[in-house]
This record gives sequence, structure tokens and C-alpha cells, in this order.
Amino acid sequence: MASPQWLEIRRHWYGEWVSRYGAEPSCVVCGGAWHLDCGDLHHRSYRNLGQERFEDLLPVDRACHDRVHAVWDTNPAWRRIDRALANDLIIGSLRRTHLENGAT
Ligand SMILES: [Zn+2]
Ligand SMILES: [Zn+2]
Repeated sequence: MASPQWLEIRRHWYGEWVSRYGAEPSCVVCGGAWHLDCGDLHHRSYRNLGQERFEDLLPVDRACHDRVHAVWDTNPAWRRIDRALANDLIIGSLRRTHLENGAT
């Protein structure tokens, strides 16, 4: 999915994050560093596919991205509710697990 269009969306998303938060993005699951050249963006929503808006995308590192998709794959019930809401719940739960496991 490394089309010029997607790279442009990523660049635009990154600029928006920095201007909103005044800091570099970090993984929404573990808080680890995220970089534009190698970080993943997870689709919180497919509502605007191809013209993704800022809130449609979430920064995740590769390992946490795999975890998010693993949760999606284990329970078909996630697909029956709104995708953005499902992602918020999944990521909230993974983040709690991460904190409980003694993140530093
Ligand atoms: Zn992470
Ligand atoms: Zn994803």
C-alpha cells in the first residue's frame, strides 16, 4: 500500500499530528517512538478510504499493529459494531494490558 497517494496521506497526517500535539507521534498502544519513514498507520475507520482524515488513522509500531489485528481476527463480533468504536475498545484494552505488564 505504498502508493504515492498513501505516502502523501501519511505525510499530511504526520504534519497534522505535530501541529496538534507539538510533539512527534508515538504508538497509541505502548507509547513507543513512531517515525514517518517506518511507522505503521492503522485504519481506525475505512469511512474515507483513499482520502483518509486525521482521525481515521492511528500511529502504531509494527509489533503493536500485529497485536491489534490479532484481536480483530480472534473475534468476529468486532466486525458487527462500528469499526472506529471497535478500534477504540481494542486499543484501550491492549494499552491497559501493556500498562499492567509493567511498562517502563
Ligand atoms: Zn507499540
Ligand atoms: Zn491496521
